[in-house]
Parts: sequence; structure tokens; C-alpha cells
Amino acid sequence: MRLIPLGGLGEIGMNCLVVEDHGRLMIVDCGAAFPEDDLGVDVIHPDFDYVIRNRDRLDGVFLTHGHEDHIGALPYLLSELETPVWGPPHALGMARKRLLEHGFGPNELDFRTATPGNRYAVGPFEVEPVRVAHSIVEASALAIRTSAGIVFHSGDFNFDPDPPDGEPTDEARIRELGDEGIGILLSDSTNIDVPERAGSERSVGSVLERLIEAAPARVVVALFASNIQRLMLLGEIARRTGRKLCLLGRSLDAQSTIAREIGRLSWLSDLLVSADELREMDRKRVLILAGGTQAERLSAMRRLADGVHPLLELVPGDTVILSSRVIPGNDRPVIAMMNALYRRGLTVHTRINEPGVHTSGHAGRSEQRRMLELTRPRCFMPVHGTLHHLLRHAELARSVGVKETIVVENGAAVGFDGERAVQVDAVRSGRVAVAIGGEVLSQENLHRRQELGRMGIVTVALALDGRKLLGPPVVATRGIPNVDGEEPAQRSLALEAARAVEQFREGRGLELPEHVRRTVRRKVEDLSGTRPVVEVSVVRAD
Ligand SMILES: [Zn+2]
Ligand SMILES: [Zn+2]
Repeated sequence: MRLIPLGGLGEIGMNCLVVEDHGRLMIVDCGAAFPEDDLGVDVIHPDFDYVIRNRDRLDGVFLTHGHEDHIGALPYLLSELETPVWGPPHALGMARKRLLEHGFGPNELDFRTATPGNRYAVGPFEVEPVRVAHSIVEASALAIRTSAGIVFHSGDFNFDPDPPDGEPTDEARIRELGDEGIGILLSDSTNIDVPERAGSERSVGSVLERLIEAAPARVVVALFASNIQRLMLLGEIARRTGRKLCLLGRSLDAQSTIAREIGRLSWLSDLLVSADELREMDRKRVLILAGGTQAERLSAMRRLADGVHPLLELVPGDTVILSSRVIPGNDRPVIAMMNALYRRGLTVHTRINEPGVHTSGHAGRSEQRRMLELTRPRCFMPVHGTLHHLLRHAELARSVGVKETIVVENGAAVGFDGERAVQVDAVRSGRVAVAIGGEVLSQENLHRRQELGRMGIVTVALALDGRKLLGPPVVATRGIPNVDGEEPAQRSLALEAARAVEQFREGRGLELPEHVRRTVRRKVEDLSGTRPVVEVSVVRAD
């Protein structure tokens, strides 16, 4: 039996794990990641080379829950091969929507609903989902029976004892599986550095209710749209505080629609108002939910902050609550958005001044320890985290008496014989960047985009008849200080290029365009102090 992580080990996000037994393959989760720098990358997915090459041996994908880092790469995998997908109704609903957006036909999808308490045969694997609490409905851990015993994959989980959807982690079932004997535990390492989770989901509800109750006018709550439990709480809070709910943002619409379809959200229709109706309403009677906690450029929250939302303008007296955390890498845009809100004279509550407005969906250290104690595995392999997170989680496992631990990153093939796990092989793995527009960006593409962003570009066009210029060189620049839009500077660059053509002598080991390129680049450096990308193109009349 082998475990081969293709994503999520050595990084946060893009979770994807291959389980291999009896020569057959199944995949646990198929997640995406999102870029931290702005190079026009839309989404990042795992390199599926290994499964694509072994597609004949693949029996299916099993989803633990509907977060993007667990389902977001499905369109890219399923455009390469056909395979059934098992998962909770909510995750399948989200995945279906995403696949239809990618042009899949509804009949092309082989989706199979999986619910806790049942066992599903995925080729030679027997998979039992076990309910876990998380910041999304219908999250599950997976108990996978293999020739080397039970592989228990925690998925994303926490031990919130009383979550708003009424479905806490099924500790009794996990303990039973532990009694039966778990060969290897794979558990989420995301929050290994957090000793205790900030609080329960309901405690977030109480804090939000207090702030909403006290607000003198409109309230906007920005939250992660997939947190259906928090949507439930906000529906109740709206009713109790005599406000109507208004949803702003496509992801909120999508999530609430799917949650209602699968019976997970029972908002009465008279609770909701449309954004058009807001203008007419008493400001103390509305509670607006908005997407865009990370200040995403086209999101509702960002537009409200910038005062460019087409349907709503916030005014002094209104309150904004960011019921979220800042995903590492987004600090700057989020702080900028908060400042834009302050400038509009709004009251702003965030986790910085009101720690209780958000809690993580991931287990903190004490809950990770509890998972280890319930499962009592013979071997432990931490998942979902950078190397730092994985190493610390393995250390935690050893401290509670797990003798065998193994820490690997993406691409390692780990053999497990029921007692010990060892890396036996390595397969190709990596991050595939998909551009806005849908095409894959190579490392070289990305490197060039980075270079252009950092340095700017100068283009020089030469029209030549033999060695003679047919007219003055045409120079264009983008992003060059002292040169962009400056006539004299542009003219001096064109002159320099013309002189370079005149003075060019063959046989010095340099072609003419390269000679011009170097000359112009030196001149640009004189003028601007920068060394941009310089491109020379030649049109020949001969
Ligand atoms: Zn999750
Ligand atoms: Zn996750």
C-alpha cells in the first residue's frame, strides 16, 4: 500500500493525495490554491502527471468537504480523464457548479453521494466517511480500509462541541475505529501553531449579535461564503434584531442556493431582500452579508469600501464587520480596504479590535492532540501544511506516544506495511499555474511576467533595407521613469538606436538587433536608472 501526496504537503492549500493498493488508485480530495502575487494567475492546481499516466488504474476521487482547497482542481483533473467522484452532497453541489462553469455537460459527471455511517467500494478500497465539525457543512474524515489496515484521513476538522448545524465531530465512531486499530493517521496540520482555537462557532454568533444589536444603522458583515453555519447564525440574528438579510456577492448567492437545495439552510423567503430594495429601507432594518473578506478586486466588500458598488453606498453611521481572518499574503490589500472604510466614516469591527468576530475552522494544537488520542494510530503522517507545520505536528504525535511518524512533502511515494511507513519512491509533482483565460503558464512565462512587472519594457522597431534605415526607429516604453510619455527622452532613445545601426560593423560576434538592444539599454539606464527588458524587432524591405 502506498500513499502519494500530490498537493498540500509542504504547502498550505491544493490538497490532493493518491492512495494505491493492489495496483489500484484512489484520490482523496482534489484542491486548488490561489496565487499570492499578482501575475495574472487565476488558480493553481497540482501536477496530475502521475494519475494521468496511471489513469487505467484509477478507481475514483473521494472528497472530504467542499472547500476550494479540496475540490477546486477537479475541472483540471476531469478534463484529462474520466473517473467517478464521491463526496458529501454539499461538496458535490459546489463541484458540479464549478464543472458546469468549465463547460462540462451535466451528463458527463459521475457523481456519487457519500454520507457518514455508510461504506463505499472504490475499487479495492472500502471508504467510510466520518462526520467532523469544520467551517463548512458536511465535512468528513475518511476511514479507508486497505491491505495494510485502516488509513484514517482526518480531512479538515475541529472539535467544536455544539456547532450551529448540530453535527459535531463523531468522536464515538473515531474512538471505535481506534479500538479496531488504525494503521496510519493522516491529520490536518494547518493550525499546529495555535494552542487553542479562539472559540466555538456559536461564540462568534454571540459576538456578532452583540455588535449588530448595538449598531445604529446599516450593518455589513463580510464573511467566507462557504461558512454555511455562520450564514445560519446570521439568519437567526437578523430575525431576532428585526433586520432583513441582503446578500451581496456571487459566492454568497451560490453557497446559499446550494445550501438551501440540500436542506442545510432554512431561511424563510421573507427574511431576504434584494439589493435594489435597500435604498428604500430604514437603515436600522437591514443586515447585509458581503463577500470579499480578502479585499478581492471585484468583490462586494472591496467595492463598498471604494464607494463604487452600483447598488449600495455606505455612509457615516453604518457599521462593517469583517468576520474573517486575513489569509497570509493578503495583509496589505485587506489593511488598505479597512482604511478605505475608516475614511468613509464607518464603524469597523475586525478580529484586530474584536477577536471574537471569527474563529478558525481548523483544529488547534489541543484538538490535534485529541485526534491523535482518539485514533491511537500505529503510524502518523501529518498532512496540510508547510514543512514547518508537518514537522511540529509529527513532534506532537511523538509526544503523545505514537512511535512511528513520517514527514514527507509532495511527490513522495510512502510505502506502509501496517506497522511502518517509509518513502520508497518519488513521482513528478508540482504547482500548475492557470492564467486568467484558462491556459497554463509555464515557469518561463511566469518568470517573464515577473521581470516585466519589476523592470518595465522598451521596444525598438527598425525598418531596414540592407544595412540602411528606411526611417527613424520607433521606440515605445512601458513603466520606465523619466521616459514614459517624455518626448525628448523617447527621441534620444530613437537617435541612439539609429546611431547604433549606423555604427554597426559585422564580424564582432554580435548580430545587429543584439547590438542595438545593448546600446539602447545602456541609454535607458542613463536616463532612468533602471535596466528594463528591451526588445528589438526588425522589419526588412530587402
Ligand atoms: Zn476546509
Ligand atoms: Zn482545507
